[in-house]
Amino acid sequence: MTGLVIVGHGTRSAAGVDQFAALVERVRRRGDVADVEGGFIELSRPPLTDAVGALVTRGHRKLVALPLVLTGAGHGKGDIPAAMAREQERHPGLTYRYGRPLGPHPLLHTALEERIDAALAGADRAGTALAGADRAGTWVALIGRGSTDPDANAEVAKVARLLWEGRGYAGVEPGFISLAQPSVPEVLDRLRRLGARRIVVAPYFLFAGVLPDRIVAQSAEFAAAHPDLDVRVAEVIGDCDALADLVLERHAEALGGDIRMNCDTCAYRVLMPGFADKVGRPQRPHDHPDDPVGHHNHHHGHDHHHDHGSVAVVGGGPGPDDLITVRGKALLDAADVVVVDRLAPQGLLAELRPDVLVIDAAKVPRGPSMAQDAINEALVSHARAGRRVVRLKGGDPYVFGRGHEEVQACAAAGVPVTVVPGVSSALAAPTLAGVPVTHRGVAHDVTVVSGHLPPGHPDSLVDWAALARARGTVVLLMAVDTIAKIAAVLVEHGRAPETPVLAVQDAGLPGQRSVPARLDEIGAVAAREGIGPPAVFVLGPVVALAATGPSA
Ligand code: SAH
Repeated sequence: MTGLVIVGHGTRSAAGVDQFAALVERVRRRGDVADVEGGFIELSRPPLTDAVGALVTRGHRKLVALPLVLTGAGHGKGDIPAAMAREQERHPGLTYRYGRPLGPHPLLHTALEERIDAALAGADRAGTALAGADRAGTWVALIGRGSTDPDANAEVAKVARLLWEGRGYAGVEPGFISLAQPSVPEVLDRLRRLGARRIVVAPYFLFAGVLPDRIVAQSAEFAAAHPDLDVRVAEVIGDCDALADLVLERHAEALGGDIRMNCDTCAYRVLMPGFADKVGRPQRPHDHPDDPVGHHNHHHGHDHHHDHGSVAVVGGGPGPDDLITVRGKALLDAADVVVVDRLAPQGLLAELRPDVLVIDAAKVPRGPSMAQDAINEALVSHARAGRRVVRLKGGDPYVFGRGHEEVQACAAAGVPVTVVPGVSSALAAPTLAGVPVTHRGVAHDVTVVSGHLPPGHPDSLVDWAALARARGTVVLLMAVDTIAKIAAVLVEHGRAPETPVLAVQDAGLPGQRSVPARLDEIGAVAAREGIGPPAVFVLGPVVALAATGPSA
Protein backbone atom coordinates (compact mmCIF):
# COMPACT_ATOMS: atom_id res chain seq x y z
CA MET A 1 0.00 0.00 0.00
CA THR A 2 1.40 3.36 -1.01
CA GLY A 3 0.78 6.57 0.88
CA LEU A 4 0.91 10.01 -0.64
CA VAL A 5 2.78 12.79 1.07
CA ILE A 6 2.21 16.22 -0.42
CA VAL A 7 5.22 18.38 0.33
CA GLY A 8 5.07 22.14 0.54
CA HIS A 9 7.88 24.55 1.04
CA GLY A 10 6.25 26.48 3.85
CA THR A 11 5.24 30.11 4.14
CA ARG A 12 4.93 32.85 6.72
CA SER A 13 1.40 33.49 5.45
CA ALA A 14 -1.37 31.92 7.54
CA ALA A 15 -3.70 32.14 4.53
CA GLY A 16 -1.18 30.21 2.45
CA VAL A 17 -0.93 27.46 5.08
CA ASP A 18 -4.73 27.23 5.21
CA GLN A 19 -4.96 26.91 1.42
CA PHE A 20 -2.37 24.14 1.45
CA ALA A 21 -4.24 22.28 4.19
CA ALA A 22 -7.52 22.73 2.30
CA LEU A 23 -5.98 21.26 -0.84
CA VAL A 24 -4.60 18.25 1.05
CA GLU A 25 -8.10 17.74 2.48
CA ARG A 26 -9.65 18.08 -0.98
CA VAL A 27 -7.30 15.41 -2.37
CA ARG A 28 -8.06 13.18 0.61
CA ARG A 29 -11.82 13.54 0.10
CA ARG A 30 -11.49 12.43 -3.51
CA GLY A 31 -10.74 8.96 -2.17
CA ASP A 32 -8.51 8.05 -5.12
CA VAL A 33 -5.46 7.64 -2.90
CA ALA A 34 -5.62 5.37 0.14
CA ASP A 35 -3.77 7.61 2.55
CA VAL A 36 -2.75 11.25 2.16
CA GLU A 37 -0.76 13.61 4.34
CA GLY A 38 0.73 17.03 3.77
CA GLY A 39 3.76 18.67 5.37
CA PHE A 40 6.22 21.51 4.96
CA ILE A 41 9.99 21.50 4.80
CA GLU A 42 10.35 24.86 6.49
CA LEU A 43 8.52 27.66 8.27
CA SER A 44 5.05 26.16 8.63
CA ARG A 45 3.29 23.41 10.49
CA PRO A 46 2.96 20.49 10.13
CA PRO A 47 6.58 19.70 9.32
CA LEU A 48 7.25 17.06 6.70
CA THR A 49 8.60 14.72 9.34
CA ASP A 50 5.17 14.63 11.07
CA ALA A 51 3.42 13.90 7.80
CA VAL A 52 5.81 11.08 6.92
CA GLY A 53 5.74 9.83 10.52
CA ALA A 54 1.93 9.62 10.41
CA LEU A 55 2.02 7.57 7.21
CA VAL A 56 4.75 5.29 8.59
CA THR A 57 2.75 4.79 11.78
CA ARG A 58 -0.19 3.68 9.66
CA GLY A 59 1.99 1.00 8.11
CA HIS A 60 3.27 2.64 4.91
CA ARG A 61 6.79 1.81 3.87
CA LYS A 62 6.38 2.98 0.28
CA LEU A 63 5.39 6.56 -0.42
CA VAL A 64 4.85 8.88 -3.27
CA ALA A 65 6.35 12.24 -2.34
CA LEU A 66 4.83 14.99 -4.42
CA PRO A 67 6.52 18.37 -4.34
CA LEU A 68 3.79 20.97 -4.42
CA VAL A 69 5.77 23.33 -6.60
CA LEU A 70 4.93 24.86 -9.94
CA THR A 71 8.41 24.75 -11.43
CA GLY A 72 11.45 22.59 -10.93
CA ALA A 73 13.71 24.98 -9.05
CA GLY A 74 15.78 24.58 -5.91
CA HIS A 75 12.91 23.49 -3.67
CA GLY A 76 11.69 20.76 -5.96
CA LYS A 77 15.08 19.66 -7.22
CA GLY A 78 17.08 19.82 -4.04
CA ASP A 79 15.46 20.84 -0.78
CA ILE A 80 12.53 18.46 -0.78
CA PRO A 81 14.54 15.37 -1.85
CA ALA A 82 17.12 16.30 0.80
CA ALA A 83 14.38 16.48 3.42
CA MET A 84 13.05 13.11 2.23
CA ALA A 85 16.55 11.65 2.50
CA ARG A 86 16.48 12.63 6.16
CA GLU A 87 13.13 10.87 6.59
CA GLN A 88 14.64 7.75 5.06
CA GLU A 89 17.42 7.87 7.63
CA ARG A 90 14.82 8.20 10.33
CA HIS A 91 12.70 5.34 9.00
CA PRO A 92 14.98 2.58 7.70
CA GLY A 93 13.36 0.69 4.84
CA LEU A 94 11.24 3.63 3.76
CA THR A 95 11.23 4.12 0.01
CA TYR A 96 9.54 6.75 -2.04
CA ARG A 97 8.83 7.74 -5.59
CA TYR A 98 9.23 11.36 -6.32
CA GLY A 99 6.65 13.25 -8.31
CA ARG A 100 7.54 15.94 -10.75
CA PRO A 101 6.66 19.61 -10.49
CA LEU A 102 3.06 20.55 -11.31
CA GLY A 103 3.60 22.87 -14.23
CA PRO A 104 3.37 23.58 -17.04
CA HIS A 105 -0.02 21.89 -17.32
CA PRO A 106 -3.25 22.78 -19.14
CA LEU A 107 -5.19 22.48 -15.87
CA LEU A 108 -3.05 25.26 -14.45
CA HIS A 109 -3.42 27.36 -17.57
CA THR A 110 -7.18 27.04 -17.39
CA ALA A 111 -7.11 27.98 -13.71
CA LEU A 112 -5.00 31.04 -14.52
CA GLU A 113 -7.44 31.99 -17.27
CA GLU A 114 -10.30 31.81 -14.78
CA ARG A 115 -8.44 34.01 -12.30
CA ILE A 116 -7.72 36.53 -15.07
CA ASP A 117 -11.36 36.49 -16.17
CA ALA A 118 -12.44 37.10 -12.59
CA ALA A 119 -10.11 40.09 -12.40
CA LEU A 120 -11.55 41.39 -15.66
CA ALA A 121 -15.14 40.95 -14.60
CA GLY A 122 -16.44 44.38 -13.79
CA ALA A 123 -13.51 45.97 -15.55
CA ASP A 124 -15.90 47.94 -17.71
CA ARG A 125 -15.59 51.61 -17.16
CA ALA A 126 -18.64 53.11 -18.76
CA GLY A 127 -17.86 56.07 -20.93
CA THR A 128 -14.22 55.26 -21.42
CA ALA A 129 -12.46 53.73 -24.38
CA LEU A 130 -11.92 50.72 -22.18
CA ALA A 131 -15.56 49.74 -22.06
CA GLY A 132 -15.99 46.00 -22.46
CA ALA A 133 -13.69 43.55 -20.80
CA ASP A 134 -12.53 42.28 -24.15
CA ARG A 135 -9.48 40.12 -24.09
CA ALA A 136 -8.07 41.68 -27.22
CA GLY A 137 -7.53 44.87 -25.26
CA THR A 138 -6.05 43.12 -22.25
CA TRP A 139 -2.39 42.42 -21.62
CA VAL A 140 -1.38 39.90 -19.02
CA ALA A 141 1.74 40.09 -16.88
CA LEU A 142 2.32 36.56 -15.64
CA ILE A 143 4.46 36.83 -12.54
CA GLY A 144 6.42 33.83 -11.33
CA ARG A 145 8.36 33.38 -8.14
CA GLY A 146 11.75 33.82 -9.84
CA SER A 147 14.70 31.63 -9.18
CA THR A 148 18.45 31.42 -9.51
CA ASP A 149 17.69 28.40 -11.68
CA PRO A 150 17.39 29.53 -15.30
CA ASP A 151 15.40 26.45 -16.24
CA ALA A 152 12.72 27.29 -13.69
CA ASN A 153 12.51 30.85 -15.02
CA ALA A 154 12.23 29.50 -18.54
CA GLU A 155 9.23 27.44 -17.42
CA VAL A 156 7.41 30.64 -16.49
CA ALA A 157 8.16 32.06 -19.93
CA LYS A 158 6.76 28.89 -21.42
CA VAL A 159 3.59 29.12 -19.36
CA ALA A 160 3.18 32.74 -20.48
CA ARG A 161 3.34 31.60 -24.07
CA LEU A 162 0.93 28.70 -23.53
CA LEU A 163 -1.47 30.98 -21.71
CA TRP A 164 -1.45 33.37 -24.62
CA GLU A 165 -1.94 30.73 -27.34
CA GLY A 166 -5.53 30.76 -28.57
CA ARG A 167 -6.96 32.73 -25.67
CA GLY A 168 -7.12 36.06 -27.40
CA TYR A 169 -5.24 38.26 -24.95
CA ALA A 170 -3.31 41.08 -26.56
CA GLY A 171 -0.21 39.48 -25.10
CA VAL A 172 1.15 37.65 -22.10
CA GLU A 173 4.56 38.65 -20.77
CA PRO A 174 6.46 36.81 -18.05
CA GLY A 175 7.98 38.57 -15.07
CA PHE A 176 9.32 37.67 -11.63
CA ILE A 177 8.79 38.90 -8.10
CA SER A 178 12.21 37.85 -6.85
CA LEU A 179 15.66 36.79 -7.99
CA ALA A 180 15.02 37.08 -11.73
CA GLN A 181 14.26 39.69 -14.34
CA PRO A 182 12.16 41.33 -15.55
CA SER A 183 10.75 42.52 -12.23
CA VAL A 184 7.09 43.43 -11.80
CA PRO A 185 7.61 47.17 -12.48
CA GLU A 186 9.87 46.31 -15.41
CA VAL A 187 7.37 44.04 -17.09
CA LEU A 188 4.52 46.49 -16.45
CA ASP A 189 6.55 49.27 -17.99
CA ARG A 190 7.37 47.06 -20.94
CA LEU A 191 3.66 46.46 -21.51
CA ARG A 192 2.93 50.18 -21.15
CA ARG A 193 5.49 50.95 -23.82
CA LEU A 194 3.93 48.31 -26.05
CA GLY A 195 0.74 50.36 -25.85
CA ALA A 196 -1.14 48.44 -23.17
CA ARG A 197 -4.04 50.32 -21.58
CA ARG A 198 -5.38 47.49 -19.47
CA ILE A 199 -3.13 45.00 -17.71
CA VAL A 200 -4.03 42.04 -15.55
CA VAL A 201 -1.19 40.96 -13.32
CA ALA A 202 -1.57 37.20 -12.85
CA PRO A 203 0.54 35.66 -10.08
CA TYR A 204 1.78 32.23 -11.13
CA PHE A 205 1.56 31.03 -7.57
CA LEU A 206 -0.26 28.15 -5.94
CA PHE A 207 -1.16 29.82 -2.68
CA ALA A 208 -1.14 33.08 -0.79
CA GLY A 209 2.17 34.14 0.66
CA VAL A 210 4.67 36.88 1.18
CA LEU A 211 5.66 37.01 -2.49
CA PRO A 212 2.12 37.18 -3.93
CA ASP A 213 1.44 39.98 -1.45
CA ARG A 214 4.48 41.76 -2.80
CA ILE A 215 3.12 41.38 -6.36
CA VAL A 216 -0.07 43.14 -5.25
CA ALA A 217 1.88 45.93 -3.58
CA GLN A 218 4.22 46.53 -6.51
CA SER A 219 1.35 46.47 -9.00
CA ALA A 220 -0.58 48.99 -6.90
CA GLU A 221 2.47 51.23 -6.78
CA PHE A 222 2.88 51.07 -10.54
CA ALA A 223 -0.83 51.74 -11.07
CA ALA A 224 -0.68 54.77 -8.78
CA ALA A 225 2.19 56.18 -10.84
CA HIS A 226 0.28 55.57 -14.09
CA PRO A 227 -3.32 56.68 -13.53
CA ASP A 228 -4.04 56.39 -17.28
CA LEU A 229 -3.62 52.62 -17.08
CA ASP A 230 -6.08 50.05 -15.78
CA VAL A 231 -3.96 47.65 -13.72
CA ARG A 232 -5.58 44.87 -11.75
CA VAL A 233 -4.21 41.83 -9.98
CA ALA A 234 -5.71 38.36 -10.29
CA GLU A 235 -5.95 35.87 -7.45
CA VAL A 236 -3.42 33.09 -6.97
CA ILE A 237 -4.44 29.64 -8.25
CA GLY A 238 -5.43 28.53 -4.74
CA ASP A 239 -7.14 25.41 -3.46
CA CYS A 240 -9.43 24.23 -6.26
CA ASP A 241 -10.58 21.10 -8.06
CA ALA A 242 -8.20 21.66 -10.96
CA LEU A 243 -5.26 21.61 -8.57
CA ALA A 244 -6.52 18.46 -6.86
CA ASP A 245 -6.91 16.85 -10.30
CA LEU A 246 -3.36 17.73 -11.14
CA VAL A 247 -2.01 16.41 -7.84
CA LEU A 248 -3.75 13.11 -8.50
CA GLU A 249 -2.36 13.03 -12.03
CA ARG A 250 1.18 13.59 -10.79
CA HIS A 251 0.61 10.91 -8.14
CA ALA A 252 -0.49 8.38 -10.75
CA GLU A 253 2.45 9.31 -12.91
CA ALA A 254 4.91 8.75 -10.05
CA LEU A 255 3.32 5.40 -9.19
CA GLY A 256 3.62 4.34 -12.81
CA GLY A 257 7.26 5.32 -12.79
CA ASP A 258 6.67 7.64 -15.72
CA ILE A 259 8.40 10.76 -14.52
CA ARG A 260 9.47 12.93 -17.37
CA MET A 261 11.33 15.69 -15.69
CA ASN A 262 13.11 18.05 -18.02
CA CYS A 263 16.74 17.36 -17.21
CA ASP A 264 18.25 18.59 -20.46
CA THR A 265 18.43 22.18 -19.31
CA CYS A 266 18.98 21.58 -15.60
CA ALA A 267 21.66 23.84 -14.14
CA TYR A 268 22.73 21.03 -11.79
CA ARG A 269 23.72 18.90 -14.77
CA VAL A 270 24.60 21.23 -17.60
CA LEU A 271 26.83 24.26 -17.54
CA MET A 272 24.71 27.33 -18.22
CA PRO A 273 26.39 30.69 -18.65
CA GLY A 274 26.72 32.26 -15.22
CA PHE A 275 25.58 29.18 -13.30
CA ALA A 276 28.74 27.08 -13.23
CA ASP A 277 28.66 26.90 -9.44
CA LYS A 278 25.54 24.71 -9.62
CA VAL A 279 26.92 21.86 -11.70
CA GLY A 280 27.05 18.77 -9.53
CA ARG A 281 26.47 20.70 -6.32
CA PRO A 282 25.33 18.56 -3.40
CA GLN A 283 21.98 19.36 -1.78
CA ARG A 284 21.52 19.71 1.92
CA PRO A 285 18.23 19.65 3.82
CA HIS A 286 16.77 22.76 5.37
CA ASP A 287 16.27 22.72 9.10
CA HIS A 288 12.64 22.68 9.99
CA PRO A 289 12.06 24.61 13.21
CA ASP A 290 9.87 21.81 14.58
CA ASP A 291 12.20 18.99 13.64
CA PRO A 292 14.31 17.79 16.57
CA VAL A 293 16.62 15.88 14.21
CA GLY A 294 16.95 18.81 11.92
CA HIS A 295 19.62 20.89 13.55
CA HIS A 296 22.69 19.41 12.10
CA ASN A 297 23.89 19.77 8.59
CA HIS A 298 25.77 16.82 7.33
CA HIS A 299 27.28 15.63 4.14
CA HIS A 300 26.52 12.06 3.35
CA GLY A 301 27.53 10.01 0.38
CA HIS A 302 23.86 9.60 -0.40
CA ASP A 303 23.03 13.27 -0.42
CA HIS A 304 20.66 13.85 -3.26
CA HIS A 305 22.55 14.66 -6.42
CA HIS A 306 19.59 14.65 -8.64
CA ASP A 307 20.53 11.09 -9.52
CA HIS A 308 22.49 12.16 -12.54
CA GLY A 309 26.20 11.87 -12.95
CA SER A 310 28.22 14.46 -14.75
CA VAL A 311 31.75 15.07 -15.90
CA ALA A 312 33.68 18.31 -15.50
CA VAL A 313 36.91 18.51 -17.45
CA VAL A 314 38.88 20.90 -15.25
CA GLY A 315 42.10 22.68 -16.09
CA GLY A 316 44.18 22.55 -12.93
CA GLY A 317 46.83 25.11 -13.91
CA PRO A 318 50.56 24.50 -14.25
CA GLY A 319 51.07 22.61 -11.00
CA PRO A 320 50.88 24.65 -7.80
CA ASP A 321 47.73 24.07 -5.72
CA ASP A 322 46.69 27.70 -5.85
CA LEU A 323 46.77 28.26 -9.60
CA ILE A 324 43.53 26.35 -10.25
CA THR A 325 40.45 28.51 -10.86
CA VAL A 326 37.85 29.06 -8.13
CA ARG A 327 35.32 27.28 -10.34
CA GLY A 328 37.59 24.31 -10.86
CA LYS A 329 38.24 24.03 -7.13
CA ALA A 330 34.52 24.16 -6.33
CA LEU A 331 33.83 21.31 -8.72
CA LEU A 332 36.74 19.36 -7.28
CA ASP A 333 35.38 19.83 -3.78
CA ALA A 334 32.02 18.43 -4.87
CA ALA A 335 33.44 15.49 -6.82
CA ASP A 336 32.81 11.82 -6.07
CA VAL A 337 35.46 10.64 -8.52
CA VAL A 338 38.62 12.44 -9.66
CA VAL A 339 40.55 11.20 -12.67
CA VAL A 340 43.89 12.94 -12.45
CA ASP A 341 46.81 13.54 -14.82
CA ARG A 342 50.47 13.44 -13.84
CA LEU A 343 50.93 17.16 -14.53
CA ALA A 344 47.75 18.22 -12.69
CA PRO A 345 48.19 19.88 -9.27
CA GLN A 346 48.82 16.80 -7.12
CA GLY A 347 48.69 18.73 -3.86
CA LEU A 348 44.94 19.25 -4.25
CA LEU A 349 44.32 15.53 -3.98
CA ALA A 350 45.29 15.56 -0.31
CA GLU A 351 42.35 17.88 0.41
CA LEU A 352 39.70 15.60 -1.07
CA ARG A 353 37.19 13.89 1.21
CA PRO A 354 38.38 10.41 2.16
CA ASP A 355 35.51 8.76 0.30
CA VAL A 356 36.45 10.31 -3.04
CA LEU A 357 37.73 7.81 -5.58
CA VAL A 358 40.97 9.06 -7.14
CA ILE A 359 42.00 7.43 -10.40
CA ASP A 360 45.52 8.07 -11.65
CA ALA A 361 45.08 8.39 -15.41
CA ALA A 362 48.75 7.59 -15.98
CA LYS A 363 48.15 4.21 -14.38
CA VAL A 364 44.93 3.29 -16.11
CA PRO A 365 45.44 -0.32 -17.15
CA ARG A 366 45.79 -1.42 -20.81
CA GLY A 367 48.47 -0.53 -23.31
CA PRO A 368 49.55 3.05 -23.96
CA SER A 369 47.55 3.31 -27.19
CA MET A 370 44.41 2.35 -25.30
CA ALA A 371 45.01 4.74 -22.46
CA GLN A 372 42.81 7.53 -23.79
CA ASP A 373 39.96 5.13 -24.55
CA ALA A 374 40.25 3.69 -21.07
CA ILE A 375 40.17 7.17 -19.53
CA ASN A 376 37.12 8.11 -21.58
CA GLU A 377 35.44 4.91 -20.55
CA ALA A 378 36.18 5.56 -16.87
CA LEU A 379 34.67 9.06 -17.14
CA VAL A 380 31.54 7.80 -18.84
CA SER A 381 30.96 4.77 -16.64
CA HIS A 382 31.34 6.64 -13.34
CA ALA A 383 29.05 9.44 -14.55
CA ARG A 384 26.50 6.89 -15.69
CA ALA A 385 26.59 5.41 -12.22
CA GLY A 386 25.35 8.81 -10.98
CA ARG A 387 28.69 10.15 -9.77
CA ARG A 388 30.11 13.61 -10.13
CA VAL A 389 33.33 13.09 -11.99
CA VAL A 390 36.11 15.64 -12.24
CA ARG A 391 38.75 15.07 -14.90
CA LEU A 392 41.62 17.07 -13.42
CA LYS A 393 44.18 18.06 -16.01
CA GLY A 394 47.35 20.12 -16.08
CA GLY A 395 47.20 23.66 -17.44
CA ASP A 396 44.24 24.29 -19.70
CA PRO A 397 42.29 21.23 -20.85
CA TYR A 398 42.29 22.36 -24.46
CA VAL A 399 45.99 23.21 -24.82
CA PHE A 400 47.57 19.93 -25.97
CA GLY A 401 45.58 18.19 -23.26
CA ARG A 402 43.31 15.97 -25.35
CA GLY A 403 40.56 17.52 -23.28
CA HIS A 404 38.22 17.85 -26.19
CA GLU A 405 38.47 14.14 -26.97
CA GLU A 406 37.14 13.49 -23.47
CA VAL A 407 34.36 16.04 -23.92
CA GLN A 408 33.41 14.41 -27.21
CA ALA A 409 33.41 10.95 -25.64
CA CYS A 410 31.07 12.12 -22.86
CA ALA A 411 28.80 13.92 -25.30
CA ALA A 412 28.65 10.85 -27.52
CA ALA A 413 27.65 8.77 -24.49
CA GLY A 414 24.96 11.29 -23.50
CA VAL A 415 26.79 12.19 -20.29
CA PRO A 416 26.49 15.86 -19.26
CA VAL A 417 29.91 17.43 -19.49
CA THR A 418 31.38 20.85 -18.83
CA VAL A 419 34.85 22.28 -19.36
CA VAL A 420 36.61 24.63 -16.96
CA PRO A 421 39.51 26.57 -18.45
CA GLY A 422 42.84 26.55 -16.70
CA VAL A 423 46.03 28.58 -16.53
CA SER A 424 48.12 27.01 -19.26
CA SER A 425 51.80 26.35 -18.68
CA ALA A 426 52.32 27.86 -22.13
CA LEU A 427 51.71 31.28 -20.63
CA ALA A 428 52.32 30.57 -16.95
CA ALA A 429 55.82 29.13 -17.27
CA PRO A 430 57.27 32.18 -19.06
CA THR A 431 55.42 34.49 -16.64
CA LEU A 432 56.68 32.59 -13.60
CA ALA A 433 60.19 32.80 -15.04
CA GLY A 434 59.89 36.55 -15.51
CA VAL A 435 59.44 36.54 -19.31
CA PRO A 436 56.55 38.62 -20.64
CA VAL A 437 55.37 36.73 -23.72
CA THR A 438 54.33 40.06 -25.24
CA HIS A 439 55.72 43.51 -24.58
CA ARG A 440 54.94 46.86 -26.17
CA GLY A 441 57.42 47.59 -28.92
CA VAL A 442 59.04 44.15 -28.63
CA ALA A 443 56.57 41.39 -29.54
CA HIS A 444 53.01 41.64 -30.76
CA ASP A 445 52.39 37.95 -31.19
CA VAL A 446 52.95 34.75 -29.32
CA THR A 447 52.64 31.31 -30.85
CA VAL A 448 52.19 28.19 -28.74
CA VAL A 449 53.60 25.16 -30.50
CA SER A 450 53.80 21.47 -29.73
CA GLY A 451 57.28 20.05 -30.11
CA HIS A 452 55.93 16.56 -29.72
CA LEU A 453 56.72 15.71 -33.35
CA PRO A 454 60.07 16.90 -34.73
CA PRO A 455 60.23 19.04 -37.88
CA GLY A 456 59.95 16.90 -40.95
CA HIS A 457 57.81 14.27 -39.25
CA PRO A 458 55.13 13.14 -41.72
CA ASP A 459 52.33 13.75 -39.20
CA SER A 460 53.52 17.22 -38.20
CA LEU A 461 51.03 20.04 -38.83
CA VAL A 462 53.42 22.85 -37.88
CA ASP A 463 54.80 25.25 -40.50
CA TRP A 464 58.28 25.61 -38.97
CA ALA A 465 59.53 27.77 -41.83
CA ALA A 466 56.73 30.28 -41.18
CA LEU A 467 57.59 30.34 -37.47
CA ALA A 468 61.21 30.98 -38.45
CA ARG A 469 60.21 33.94 -40.62
CA ALA A 470 57.90 35.41 -37.97
CA ARG A 471 59.49 37.65 -35.37
CA GLY A 472 57.28 37.25 -32.35
CA THR A 473 57.46 34.97 -29.34
CA VAL A 474 57.34 31.18 -29.71
CA VAL A 475 56.52 28.94 -26.76
CA LEU A 476 57.34 25.27 -27.26
CA LEU A 477 55.69 22.58 -25.16
CA MET A 478 56.64 18.91 -25.10
CA ALA A 479 59.90 19.80 -26.80
CA VAL A 480 62.56 18.46 -24.45
CA ASP A 481 63.51 15.68 -26.87
CA THR A 482 63.13 17.73 -30.04
CA ILE A 483 64.51 21.15 -29.11
CA ALA A 484 67.83 20.70 -30.94
CA LYS A 485 66.12 19.81 -34.22
CA ILE A 486 63.53 22.55 -33.84
CA ALA A 487 66.17 25.20 -33.14
CA ALA A 488 68.19 24.08 -36.16
CA VAL A 489 65.19 24.32 -38.48
CA LEU A 490 64.23 27.77 -37.14
CA VAL A 491 67.77 29.05 -37.75
CA GLU A 492 67.87 27.39 -41.17
CA HIS A 493 64.71 29.25 -42.23
CA GLY A 494 65.75 32.65 -40.99
CA ARG A 495 65.49 33.15 -37.22
CA ALA A 496 68.60 34.89 -35.98
CA PRO A 497 70.98 32.36 -34.36
CA GLU A 498 71.48 34.72 -31.41
CA THR A 499 67.71 34.84 -30.63
CA PRO A 500 67.44 34.38 -26.86
CA VAL A 501 65.73 31.24 -25.57
CA LEU A 502 64.79 30.31 -22.01
CA ALA A 503 64.10 26.76 -20.91
CA VAL A 504 61.74 26.76 -17.93
CA GLN A 505 61.42 23.49 -16.07
CA ASP A 506 58.89 22.65 -13.33
CA ALA A 507 57.33 26.08 -13.50
CA GLY A 508 55.52 27.07 -10.33
CA LEU A 509 56.81 24.03 -8.45
CA PRO A 510 59.51 23.99 -5.76
CA GLY A 511 62.11 22.78 -8.25
CA GLN A 512 61.45 25.49 -10.84
CA ARG A 513 64.57 26.46 -12.78
CA SER A 514 65.39 28.42 -15.91
CA VAL A 515 68.27 27.89 -18.31
CA PRO A 516 69.04 30.56 -20.92
CA ALA A 517 70.83 30.03 -24.24
CA ARG A 518 71.09 31.36 -27.79
CA LEU A 519 68.79 29.68 -30.30
CA ASP A 520 71.70 27.99 -32.07
CA GLU A 521 72.99 26.61 -28.78
CA ILE A 522 69.82 25.72 -26.86
CA GLY A 523 69.86 22.06 -27.91
CA ALA A 524 73.34 21.48 -26.55
CA VAL A 525 72.80 23.62 -23.45
CA ALA A 526 69.52 21.92 -22.53
CA ALA A 527 71.13 18.51 -22.90
CA ARG A 528 74.18 19.52 -20.88
CA GLU A 529 72.06 21.08 -18.12
CA GLY A 530 69.80 18.04 -18.01
CA ILE A 531 66.57 19.91 -18.78
CA GLY A 532 63.79 17.34 -18.42
CA PRO A 533 60.02 17.36 -18.62
CA PRO A 534 57.90 19.17 -17.79
CA ALA A 535 59.55 22.14 -19.43
CA VAL A 536 58.66 24.86 -21.90
CA PHE A 537 61.04 26.75 -24.16
CA VAL A 538 60.23 30.37 -24.80
CA LEU A 539 62.11 32.12 -27.55
CA GLY A 540 62.12 35.56 -29.09
CA PRO A 541 63.26 39.07 -28.21
CA VAL A 542 61.02 39.18 -25.10
CA VAL A 543 63.32 36.68 -23.40
CA ALA A 544 65.99 39.39 -23.15
CA LEU A 545 63.58 41.36 -20.92
CA ALA A 546 63.58 38.65 -18.27
CA ALA A 547 66.73 39.96 -16.61
CA THR A 548 64.97 43.26 -15.89
CA GLY A 549 61.87 41.55 -14.52
CA PRO A 550 61.12 40.09 -11.10
CA SER A 551 63.08 37.07 -9.85
CA ALA A 552 64.13 35.94 -13.33
N1 SAH B 1 47.38 21.32 -21.05
C1 SAH B 1 48.72 21.61 -20.55
C2 SAH B 1 49.80 21.15 -21.49
C3 SAH B 1 49.82 19.67 -21.67
S1 SAH B 1 51.18 19.16 -22.66
C4 SAH B 1 48.80 23.12 -20.30
O1 SAH B 1 47.95 23.87 -20.75
O2 SAH B 1 49.75 23.54 -19.61
C5 SAH B 1 52.41 18.90 -21.46
C6 SAH B 1 53.48 19.94 -21.56
O3 SAH B 1 53.11 21.09 -20.84
C7 SAH B 1 54.79 19.55 -20.97
O4 SAH B 1 55.55 18.76 -21.85
C8 SAH B 1 55.43 20.89 -20.75
O5 SAH B 1 55.91 21.38 -21.97
C9 SAH B 1 54.25 21.74 -20.35
N2 SAH B 1 54.12 21.88 -18.90
C10 SAH B 1 53.11 21.50 -18.14
N3 SAH B 1 53.30 21.84 -16.85
C11 SAH B 1 54.47 22.48 -16.81
C12 SAH B 1 55.22 23.08 -15.77
N4 SAH B 1 54.79 23.11 -14.51
N5 SAH B 1 56.40 23.65 -16.09
C13 SAH B 1 56.86 23.66 -17.35
N6 SAH B 1 56.18 23.10 -18.36
C14 SAH B 1 55.01 22.52 -18.10
